[in-house]
Amino acid sequence: SGVLYLCATPIGNLEDITLRVLRVLQEVDLIAAEDTRHTRKLLNHYDIRAELTSYHDHNRRSKGENLLQQLAAGQNVALVSDAGMPGISDPGEELVVEALKRGIPVIPLPGPSALITALVVSGLSAERFVFEGFLPRKNKDRAGRLSELATEGRTIIIYEAPHRLIKTLEELLNCLGDRPACAARELTKRYEEVRRGSISQLLEHFSAHAPKGEFVLVVGGYSGSRETAAEGWEDRSLTPDEQVR
Ligand code: SAM
Repeated sequence: SGVLYLCATPIGNLEDITLRVLRVLQEVDLIAAEDTRHTRKLLNHYDIRAELTSYHDHNRRSKGENLLQQLAAGQNVALVSDAGMPGISDPGEELVVEALKRGIPVIPLPGPSALITALVVSGLSAERFVFEGFLPRKNKDRAGRLSELATEGRTIIIYEAPHRLIKTLEELLNCLGDRPACAARELTKRYEEVRRGSISQLLEHFSAHAPKGEFVLVVGGYSGSRETAAEGWEDRSLTPDEQVR
């Protein structure tokens, strides 16, 4: 059978793509992309004329079956998402599971992912961490998840949309206490901004400056005391102007 390649693509800056991903995207029979128009821009930038098909949340059942049949028939398929690593808060996991069940080889091509990029620049401990993806939307599930996180000792990484950032920061403050935290916005893009401070400082900042763009929140783990956790973690943010490119 063919091979399913999981290809990491940029999370903003188009230069963040590996030579190997570029070669594989050239060579495969088919690229399955979350949003074909979005991926077409990337391919055009690198002059890659490959056949594209869509594979996203809403067609993943039917399209997945289709792709698996093509793989079984010997076609090589590259899976890409709109940003970063497919399968991380993006479609891909199911396809991998099904491919493995059917004995189709799956090869990962590493590259950018917003969670790791945010973690390493946050200044918070990367020794042990947990990735929460997007917190559940439903109030009950959300409350349950937040209460689990209240005594989580590892650094916590959360994805969030700009219009929900304030609500999430408020809930984190209520449930976890005023921890050291970092909001990493628009990583690798023109308006990249990494804001570090206590959760309450971040709240204050984003209440005055409406959150825009894509965010990763990184929050310090539980250290045994709710009250003093953010002491000594004053605002150490770099604004886009101060950053060296
Ligand atoms: N597969 C992607 C990855 O490997 O990081 C994640 C896809 S998920 C649908 C999109 C979320 O990732 C955004 O809501 C945001 O939380 C985060 N994200 C993606 N690109 C980002 C960037 N350039 N800066 C900050 N956060 C980003």
